[in-house]
Amino acid sequence: MLDLASLTDFLSQPRKVVITTHHKPDGDAMGSSLGMYNYLIQQGHHAKVITPTDYPDFLTWMPGNEEVTIFTENQELSAQLVAEAEIIFCLDFNSLNRINELGELVRASNAYKVMIDHHLEPEDFDDYRHWDIKACAAAQLVYTFIADQLNNKALINKDVATCLYTGIMTDSGSFRLPNTTSEVHRIAAELIDAGANNSRIHELVYNSASENRLRFLGYCLANCLEILPEYNTAIIAVSKQDIQRFDVNTGDTEGIVNYALSIASIRLAAFIVDRSEKVKLSLRSKDEFPANEICKKYFAGGGHRNAAGGQSDESLEATVEKFKSILPSYKKLLIQ
Ligand code: 5GP
Ligand code: MN
Repeated sequence: MLDLASLTDFLSQPRKVVITTHHKPDGDAMGSSLGMYNYLIQQGHHAKVITPTDYPDFLTWMPGNEEVTIFTENQELSAQLVAEAEIIFCLDFNSLNRINELGELVRASNAYKVMIDHHLEPEDFDDYRHWDIKACAAAQLVYTFIADQLNNKALINKDVATCLYTGIMTDSGSFRLPNTTSEVHRIAAELIDAGANNSRIHELVYNSASENRLRFLGYCLANCLEILPEYNTAIIAVSKQDIQRFDVNTGDTEGIVNYALSIASIRLAAFIVDRSEKVKLSLRSKDEFPANEICKKYFAGGGHRNAAGGQSDESLEATVEKFKSILPSYKKLLIQ
């Protein structure tokens, strides 16, 4: 284990650093990673962000993006960077299976591993941990790591602030979810003062979809939405053919599940999609309903209480049936 003083000391001279985050990175994953990257390069560190997979186009405008290495597209270079790293920052995930094949490379590396994360039940692979499940985003924890733990608020420049603001904005549902505390707003205000253009960031993330994505959304809501009134549950199931028909790309399905949850009576919403190798589930719930428990118990996944994900090796139809068969055991929680 590393304590803060030893970590600070270790970072006081230029190091070979790898920053990585979970597969299919979202706004918080990319925002916290590039925020950390833009912070570290100011101190002369040789820092590299490696993502396990590609990520949506609406996240490619952030400063430092052109320096990101995507593991699936550059495996040799990624393996070399991990092997040579002296320190690896693991951001917005806490178990090595969330970074696919990269996980075993990270595990095997002799580098110090720093986990900065806000998910439940961390795996014990790290040497230093800044972990708080109450944080609305990993980017919030990257902010407190830099500003409070490393005492380097002055280095939160426009680039760092822009990336961290993006992470906080996306993971807090645009400052709407229950974990958006007054402290989150104070940090957001600091980031705006440091140069983050909040209005433009919102525009770049949320108003940059393709025509296809909007037509796909319309199709999902008109044709794929099933309501189970006896369980206050909504399901949107999308087949492989639909994915091909609308030329759905990485990130195009993000957020669609929230439309199902926006119906007043609905307490649990599932977006179930047939991706190339696996069927992927995204669950969202209201209040106390534990969406992560369903994902963990039945779909080899996990997540937060109100936002969780998982997968299935069965067909789309079989996965939908399996999901429906679980609902009776949660009926009490769903109809209260
Ligand atoms: P999404 O539905 O957007 O893919 O994921 C929602 C939340 O569930 C995210 O916070 C994500 O970290 C978590 N999550 C999604 N898929 C998995 C998974 O396979 N395993 C675990 N442990 N968490 C997941
Ligand atoms: Mn996050």
